[in-house]
Amino acid sequence: MSPVIRRAMLGSRGPNPGQVRAVTAALALAALAVGSWALVERAETLETLLFLALAASIVSVGVGYLSERHHRRHLEHLSDSRDLLQQTVRSPLSVGALLGRLCQIFGAGFAEVVVLPDAPDQAALLVRVCSGRITETSEAVDQVLLADVFSVTVPASLSLVLREGAGPLESDAMLARRGLHGAVMAALSVEGQILGSLMVGRGQGDLRSFTDEDQRLLEALAPQVGVTVEKLRLDERINHQAFHDSLTGLANRALFADRVVHALDRRMEPGRLRAAILFIDLDDFKVVNDTLGHASGDLLLQGVTRRLRRVVRPFDTVARLGGDEFAVLIEDPAGPEEAVAVAERFLEELTDTFDLHGAAVSIGASVGIAIADRPSMTYDHLLREADVAMYRAKERGKATVETFDAGMQRALERRLRLRGDLEQAVSAGELSVEYQPIVALESGTMVGVEALARWDSPRLGRIGPREFIPVAEASGLIREIGRQVLRTACEQAVRWSAGEPGRELSVSVNLSPRQLLHPDFAEEVATILRETYLSPSLLNLEITESLLVENTATTLERLRALKDLGVTLAVDDFGTGYSSLAELKFLPVDALKIPKSFVDNVATDARERAFLAGIIGLGRTLHLRVVAVGVEGADQLDELRDMNCDLAQGFHLAAPLDAEGVAELLSRQAGTASADWGHRPREMALARCSSGDTESLPRTA
Ligand code: C2E
Ligand code: MG
Repeated sequence: MSPVIRRAMLGSRGPNPGQVRAVTAALALAALAVGSWALVERAETLETLLFLALAASIVSVGVGYLSERHHRRHLEHLSDSRDLLQQTVRSPLSVGALLGRLCQIFGAGFAEVVVLPDAPDQAALLVRVCSGRITETSEAVDQVLLADVFSVTVPASLSLVLREGAGPLESDAMLARRGLHGAVMAALSVEGQILGSLMVGRGQGDLRSFTDEDQRLLEALAPQVGVTVEKLRLDERINHQAFHDSLTGLANRALFADRVVHALDRRMEPGRLRAAILFIDLDDFKVVNDTLGHASGDLLLQGVTRRLRRVVRPFDTVARLGGDEFAVLIEDPAGPEEAVAVAERFLEELTDTFDLHGAAVSIGASVGIAIADRPSMTYDHLLREADVAMYRAKERGKATVETFDAGMQRALERRLRLRGDLEQAVSAGELSVEYQPIVALESGTMVGVEALARWDSPRLGRIGPREFIPVAEASGLIREIGRQVLRTACEQAVRWSAGEPGRELSVSVNLSPRQLLHPDFAEEVATILRETYLSPSLLNLEITESLLVENTATTLERLRALKDLGVTLAVDDFGTGYSSLAELKFLPVDALKIPKSFVDNVATDARERAFLAGIIGLGRTLHLRVVAVGVEGADQLDELRDMNCDLAQGFHLAAPLDAEGVAELLSRQAGTASADWGHRPREMALARCSSGDTESLPRTA
């Protein structure tokens, strides 16, 4: 037990000898005062003078004794402080605990250490003990804080006593900011270099002032505190580097995981929630990085960090999990709505633009929330739920907040199950390809097909590509699936034409961004074309619009490499992403595919008709062919023809078919008037679609 604590405990049991002596001296002085008053009343001059001389000497002895006692007390404190510091160096006492001890030594309620950062853009460390509560923050340099430290302590004096109303204006302001009426302050320096400052203060409830001796004591302690802080700072720095993200200063994934695990481990009163986490992904961050450069991207991440800090409590953990992903841990939330409120405040903060080297940039974010509302919750579980909720927020149209719920839980379980099954399915040959005819509107002939992946699982039944393709993308299986679809489609396209002129069909294959962005992809396509003998001009690759937006430089390079092979490129789902006319002009694409949602109301809604006419006009201006997808009625087809749309694809013309179904249509087309296509009843096409087997993909080795 430290001497300070031991003495404090002894003191609480009864007076020590020093205290007894002090009380005796005070009583003697009081008796003298009463005696002198009585003598003066009786006006006996000689006696009075003698008495006063005696009194003066007793007072001087008393004062001497008291001052000596005071001095001894300080020496004791000094020795306590040395003990304390030695102990600090030996066993790792936190700066907070060190300050707590200083409060005891000085009989003060407030102590603070400010440790200046190594560089202006780094975080300053502020540790404060106030009425027994320790707050320890490592925060971006606060100008007010630094101004306090520099203007008041350094370099004017290495230590000083501050009294409210008795010093320079800055010192009053500084005291006021901390709710103090007086303080004693010293610069912390190691080997002549100022590290920061050390302050002990008393609040408005304790009006005792600090003395010169307090100042000397603090000054004597300061170098040792400096050494201790420097050591702790070094530990802190090492610790910080291991557990913080260097760009933003936020907690990294490891620290975040640790904090969440601790939060989940706590015992809670019934009905209280342990924690909520927010999983945040910036919308279209890559666009900023690619268009304005990485320096601007970094600046944006730092700006986002500042705004994120503004909406959380000081003790909530904010982390950067990597790239443009952030997470927040809210411990002990009042309810799920508290987490939602934080997320919404953050989105609100993002509505103002960021100034990135003179460019005004706005950015949104999608936020997923997960609540630790079951005792069995683990960190992985919670993070996965928040991740799933975040994806749902993205699907719902970005800049949105979603809280994980049971429905998402089921979707997550299915997704996990599909993920496991899909790998097996690929090697077991459960995937196949169907082909949906694409018809030229002017001539009414089928000029091509779109290859569409199919999965018939013996356990789960047919699973649509809208469900399994994202799973394949997330697991990385998409490259293998994409390769198989491409090879199968190319082989099939060669088989259909069978060398007969007039039976040539172009085949469109959907590409995932992950496939296209792989550096070997163009080489893979070249190999498949070479091995299947398909003329490159008959292969059309469909890329998503979002890909064009996200990876401008790399994408452009990859697209050029593909174009150099002689294949054509189409932008799928055109108009649902954010690509602009200006971008399209520079992209080596040949066609635009208009999604079903734009075609749906073309026959009934004048505004939608005008919108579609605009897109078709745009395509023509840029010499791009336009394919309308999802045509389900003759009236839609008529409208599209009137708008001079080039090509159409949809259930009204034909649903996706197996390879034989396409071959049959080709034969029939050779023998009938091609214009029949435009008026073929839907049922007929659908009936054809359901007949016959689908062609299996080759098994993987
Ligand atoms: P997509 O590329 O836009 O393909 C067109 C989708 O619209 C197909 O859905 C097709 O069956 C459907 N469709 C065409 N006409 C109509 C219509 O008149 N009415 C209705 N209701 N639907 C129509 P499917 O086959 O379910 O494919 C969905 C998406 O999955 C595709 O959209 C594509 O993005 C993706 N996909 C399919 N196969 C592959 C593949 O091999 N690789 C990749 N990366 N994605 C694929
Ligand atoms: Mg497509």
